[in-house]
Amino acid sequence: MSRKKVFVISHSHWDREWYMAYEQHHMRLIKLMDDLLDLFNKEPEFNSFHLDGQTIILDDYLKVRPERRAEVERRVAEGKLRVGPFYILQDDFLISPEANTRDMLIGHQESKKWGNQVNLGYFPDTFGNMGQTPQMLKLADLKYAAFGRGVKPTGLNNQVFDNEKYSSQYSEMWWQGPDNSKVLSVLFANWYSNGNEIPVDKIEAKKFWDQKLADAEKYASTDNLLMMNGVDHQPVQKNVIEALKVAQELYPDYEFIHSNFDDYLKAVSKSIPKDLGKVDGELTSQETDGWYTLANTASSRVYLKQDNTKVERELENIAEPLATMAYNGTKDYPHDQLRYAWKMLLQNNPHDSICGCSVDDVHREMMTRFAKSREVGEFVAKDAIETLANQINTSAFPEGSKPFILVNTNGYEKTEMKTVEIEWQRALFADGKPDVQYEAMKKAQRELPKFKVIDIKGNKIPFEMVSSDVRFGYDLPKNKFRIPYMALYVTIQLDLTAMSAFSWKTLALASSEESEKVDSTKIYDEDSQILENNWLKASINSNGSLNILDKKTGREFDNQLVFEDTGDIGNEYIYRQSADKKTIFSTDSTAEVKVLQNNFLGAKVQLQQTMMVPESADERLEYERQAVIDITNRKANRSEKLVPLTLTTVITLSKNADQLKFKTSFNNQMKDHRVRVLFKTNLKSNYNLADSIFETVKRPNHVSDTWKNPTNPQHQQTFVNVCDDNGGMTVGNFGLNEYEILPEDNTIAVTLLRCVGEMGDWGYFGTPDAQCLGQFSFEYSLAFHDNTIASRTHTYQQAKTNQVSVQSVQTDIHNGIKKCDTTFLTLKADSFAVTSLKQAETSDGNILRGYNLTNNETKIDSSILKQAKTVNFLEEDYPVAKLNILNPAEIRTYKFSF
Ligand SMILES: [Zn+2]
Repeated sequence: MSRKKVFVISHSHWDREWYMAYEQHHMRLIKLMDDLLDLFNKEPEFNSFHLDGQTIILDDYLKVRPERRAEVERRVAEGKLRVGPFYILQDDFLISPEANTRDMLIGHQESKKWGNQVNLGYFPDTFGNMGQTPQMLKLADLKYAAFGRGVKPTGLNNQVFDNEKYSSQYSEMWWQGPDNSKVLSVLFANWYSNGNEIPVDKIEAKKFWDQKLADAEKYASTDNLLMMNGVDHQPVQKNVIEALKVAQELYPDYEFIHSNFDDYLKAVSKSIPKDLGKVDGELTSQETDGWYTLANTASSRVYLKQDNTKVERELENIAEPLATMAYNGTKDYPHDQLRYAWKMLLQNNPHDSICGCSVDDVHREMMTRFAKSREVGEFVAKDAIETLANQINTSAFPEGSKPFILVNTNGYEKTEMKTVEIEWQRALFADGKPDVQYEAMKKAQRELPKFKVIDIKGNKIPFEMVSSDVRFGYDLPKNKFRIPYMALYVTIQLDLTAMSAFSWKTLALASSEESEKVDSTKIYDEDSQILENNWLKASINSNGSLNILDKKTGREFDNQLVFEDTGDIGNEYIYRQSADKKTIFSTDSTAEVKVLQNNFLGAKVQLQQTMMVPESADERLEYERQAVIDITNRKANRSEKLVPLTLTTVITLSKNADQLKFKTSFNNQMKDHRVRVLFKTNLKSNYNLADSIFETVKRPNHVSDTWKNPTNPQHQQTFVNVCDDNGGMTVGNFGLNEYEILPEDNTIAVTLLRCVGEMGDWGYFGTPDAQCLGQFSFEYSLAFHDNTIASRTHTYQQAKTNQVSVQSVQTDIHNGIKKCDTTFLTLKADSFAVTSLKQAETSDGNILRGYNLTNNETKIDSSILKQAKTVNFLEEDYPVAKLNILNPAEIRTYKFSF
């Protein structure tokens, strides 16, 4: 019988920022890397060091030690430093499908620059694992996965029953995704620190190894045991080779090898047993007591999630599609600028960063990165849409009219009540002093003509005049000095109904002889307090809740839009309700109703409700924090002192929209609490469907037998749905990543704000900023569907397009090669959710990526298919059986040119 092999892999799990600010951790990284490079020189037997699966560590190091670049390059080439495959170690669920993809793509590009990459999808500390990981790794050409959470290891002596889909006897297992992709995976069943600080002293070493070998053998499926020599921010163990020699002497029946993942995984895959277990889909600790899933990080510091969503949409759904349309087939596509913006955004996407579970300094620095990334996105988008506008032939518009282009950059049709600002007149500083020009424009404003909006054929388009405004502006020509001016702007509102995916249309504002006839239809009736169009009828109750009739199905949904406030004595990781279980509802008070807009385009109605809420937790919480009392043992109550929390909610129903939109704002001055909005579905269903990463994930509404946590928080991207055989309800959101299904009546509860005063985890770290004091706004939506798949996925697509407004730009009258009203590409597929339209990395075509929103085969009808092939995430050829058929849960990337 051959000896058991002990593979010892030296590493350090490098959270770039967490319980200290970035630079505090960074300076310690410099020391770690210095020590490591010196150790390679001194200790030839030191096999290699695993650089935590993230290439950014090397950038961080070389920012301070640029002179050691050549040495680093040599050590990577020799296999001493093991790099990649990712750019950063992300949180799976709180970043978009594309952000997850770019982490892999950029990580791959960076690894290639260094030389070799570790062929392992590495998720050591990720707070639960997304269900599509097996398919995503396949598409990133990665053969294995390793992760630390999500599956409960049971050990060899315990039987795993068929209904335990998230338990495993072995630390190795097959992991299968919803599309049936399978990946050989390693769970760090004894954590990624099971071989940390190996003693050299024989007596201590004996004690250490007796325990560690037994622990590893309890779960290992083969004779290859994995020992992870490192942990969070662990300095390199310089005498590890000596320690392994001692171990070898003590345990001649084992072979101790200082090793690396490539060798370990090769050995494991050669000897996996036939009875190796399988886990399915997302791995989120479903079969634990439910306290440490860390899913409540989805509602920690909601402002981070909102900003992250804003920047993701700016890069993925605005800047990249516009640049693709503008620079189609040319080398002018701004690859480098976009990659720079993506890297900046991804630096905010590690698990301790985007999860909002770090100290205040960390999250303050993140806000700057969000802003920087967004500015780059906005610059690229503006440049691209102006470039596109210049290519469009507007010469048929009448002289003196002001043409403007509207572009739907979504991969799905868009219905929107669109507000557009048009510069009507301009007075240059070059032609007069600023104050004189200002007065001239003010005079022009007083003498504004009557207006009409026309298309290229001269047809009149209905619109509403909103306002006019005079202010300073400037142009920055690409080849000349800046041009300052005063300008007169006119703001109008238009109805855009079912504007096609990736299409644009050109309209113009022109002066008119007569006043345009105004459509007198109104969406809101003030007497009955009812909002109504062809799709929906919503009555506002005196307590502010809504009774809604879905006219498609004739079903009524009562008591919608209720706000709930509860105490939270937990931390950034975990919600823990105060011991008094005091819950306050918005429906306990009367709502004031105010009409903000009511015309043929749609209605905006404002509700104002005041809830009396405890100002904070009671004094006991401070003691429980200081004494580091575990969350599950806390007993603090809410304070007796009540203060008013005034919620302002604007409800929007536009003429042709089959959904209600909401924007709730308030000034939070209370601590230690959570505010949620509730939509009562009253539908009989055992499961819900939520938007996750390249997946509409189906989750049970009831918890497992082992679950002890009184709540069951879950992650979402843009929507969550509950339905029965006749149809259902979809709640969309913007950057509100946490929801819960309340099992009594299957109410969908979406967390708006969660306010806590400490980080949590291994000590006491105060986080006053996590109390989220100040002004906040939250956007979400509500739509209904019937029992067809098309109707259901329409509500999903709509929730996604709600995050991306139609883009507009003014242009002048000029010739051009492009038509006024056309599509860049046509796409008809209700169940195909587009995540990306961009130029290929090598500029030799365009990329269109998306995924199947359902577990049914789905057909894609698109103008690109004739010139398209399929590629993987790395944009390498990846042939499929049928270009126009998408398999259940498939992620598809097309590469095309025209
Ligand atoms: Zn970590």
